[in-house]
Amino acid sequence: MPLQDPDVDRYRLVAKVVDFYPFEVKDAFYQKCSFCNKEIPKRQKACFKCGDSDYEFLQYCYQMFILIEDEVGDQIKLSINDKCSLFHELKRAHLAEDSSALRAFSARVNPLLGNLQAMHDGLEVGKIVEVENPQLCFEIDTWVFSEDAKLTRAFGLSAFAQI
Ligand SMILES: [Zn+2]
Repeated sequence: MPLQDPDVDRYRLVAKVVDFYPFEVKDAFYQKCSFCNKEIPKRQKACFKCGDSDYEFLQYCYQMFILIEDEVGDQIKLSINDKCSLFHELKRAHLAEDSSALRAFSARVNPLLGNLQAMHDGLEVGKIVEVENPQLCFEIDTWVFSEDAKLTRAFGLSAFAQI
């Protein structure tokens, strides 16, 4: 696995994006209750536990993942979380229900995703679309967290630039 130096918490790397998650960009968000701080399942409109009938505590956060591949073929999964500069000053919204928010969100992520959305759309109808994404320069944050009593290294997108 690349980028494992314990003394480094930010890397610069040239790589291309080879896949992304969730499968559809309109699902790249989650909703949470700002009162109890718990995630609200997408089939719910508000936090039942807090009786939030006015959607007062309903908060949308953006989140997606990209899989990048460097020049020697090593792959790294990067999270792009709500605090990433990529989403700076974007209106937070239910992307599947707010088409103008989805357009604004897509405009930010499309330079990263290239034709991967077309590749995903093709998969659904059994059509193979070749991915032709350019190399980009990534700035990557990395940190270690504990999961099931095991230490795992995670990677997040800090910024990217065209070369
Ligand atoms: Zn709540």
